[in-house]
Amino acid sequence: MPEESLQGRVVVITGASSGIGEATARAASAAGASVALLARRADRLRDITADLEGKGGGRVIAVAADVTDEHSLTRAAKQVSEELGRCDALVNNAGQMLLSRFEASKVDEWRRMIEINLVGALLATDAFLPALRDGGGDIVNISSVAGRKARPTSSVYSATKWAIGGWSEAVRQELIADRVRVTLVEPGAVRTELAEHISDDSIRETTRAMYDTTDALHPDDIAGAVVYAISQPPRVSINEILIRPTLQEY
Ligand code: NDP
Repeated sequence: MPEESLQGRVVVITGASSGIGEATARAASAAGASVALLARRADRLRDITADLEGKGGGRVIAVAADVTDEHSLTRAAKQVSEELGRCDALVNNAGQMLLSRFEASKVDEWRRMIEINLVGALLATDAFLPALRDGGGDIVNISSVAGRKARPTSSVYSATKWAIGGWSEAVRQELIADRVRVTLVEPGAVRTELAEHISDDSIRETTRAMYDTTDALHPDDIAGAVVYAISQPPRVSINEILIRPTLQEY
């Protein structure tokens, strides 16, 4: 990937306070982009932006926002427009993976995942779409292998990621005339904070063990794929990228 492949572009990343989102912000910045990091933990965003400032080609800003709240996203889009002037790429990455058996009836966790993983991506896209349409842009949706392969304990998480896949493809077709490209990225196991929020102790332990036995991916591995997709020439649209650890079977 050319070092300055995103020179002059503005990239907005949701869920940029840790894991894949943070790594994507660092990779986009290293590729020369100006970057807006969105998440709820403003302190984490401040630390990352302070670390990135002056390292990449463009500017780096922290935007405290909750993707489940459309007013918060409207404010975020305004802040990005005022401080960076445009938005060329939106990475819908914010998410939670609250694995449980369906019979455990963790209704609050179902709602949280649907609100963050699915509705959050819709709302963020709605807020940034006018800017993305202005000259052609990129929408990158971070789905999961769980959006293709359902497994016990992943039912509702899989449902949210399956939904993202369907929505992405329809939106890709709708936005062709505006030259907005849509990319679906489907990571397998990636070593991040994601599994730490699982409330069932035994499922959390099993998930952690799976990350060890599969020699899980690093967040940078996914960040590289995102930068690859959005740094293609305008005629090239990378629609889907599925990335597993070499040792992950399902
Ligand atoms: P992390 O837990 O490290 O990151 C999740 C990010 O989402 C955090 O930055 C968090 O920030 C943000 N977030 C959560 N809720 C909200 C909200 N309401 N508003 C704004 N931001 C929010 O996990 P990952 O990096 O692993 O996860 C990133 C994405 O990758 C998710 O969509 C996940 O489903 C997907 N994925 C991850 C895999 C893995 O194995 N790690 C595999 C496949 C897909 P904050 O709490 O500060 O708001």
